[in-house]
Amino acid sequence: MAPVSGSLQSVCVFCGSSDAADPAYLRAAGDLGRALAAANLRLVYGGGGVGLMGATARAAHEAGGKVLGVIPDFLVGKERALETVEHVIVTSMHQRKQMFFEESDGFVILPGGIGTLEEVIELLSWRRLDLHTMPIVFYNPDNFWGPLFALFQHTVDAKLTPAAFMDAWTVVERVEDIVPALFAGPKAGASPMLASLT
Ligand code: AMP
Repeated sequence: MAPVSGSLQSVCVFCGSSDAADPAYLRAAGDLGRALAAANLRLVYGGGGVGLMGATARAAHEAGGKVLGVIPDFLVGKERALETVEHVIVTSMHQRKQMFFEESDGFVILPGGIGTLEEVIELLSWRRLDLHTMPIVFYNPDNFWGPLFALFQHTVDAKLTPAAFMDAWTVVERVEDIVPALFAGPKAGASPMLASLT
């Protein structure tokens, strides 16, 4: 895992693998890829060539940015692994996520489906356990992630999650605000949460 503090060099992007997604989301994914390249930030991602993930990686690569794809062997065909960028083939989803953590020092979440959700929940649950304090930025067009934030708040209201958890990420509405939000780091006031386990 990346150190708690340190310079931002590699950014992992979680996002959907569907080509049928809203074209505005696919365009935003491309814009993010170019923004990462322009900021000299390496993209770490799931290695596929489909959906928002493919759009992000192709745009970053074409703009001269560094890209690292991490894909499990059984998804190489299904997610059409991008052979044009540096990629690592692993043997399980767990290995893929472990590598995301080891190779990244910030995370961006674009619209996505159940796979994106799974990745996000692990990232946030590790934050809740103080296993990292890396910046996490949600791109939230049309309040796409609003229902998820409402569910988190629901668990806070029920006193099942510490209130500080709601400061563990930043939300932006515009793609051009993602990179500045990453460089701003974790939200001020984001506090250790592990003590609340007891
Ligand atoms: P989706 O949002 O469902 O389109 O999935 C986005 C990405 O998440 C795809 O590359 C999936 O392979 C990936 N994904 C789905 N489940 C997992 C998991 N358990 N661990 C790691 N990646 C996953």
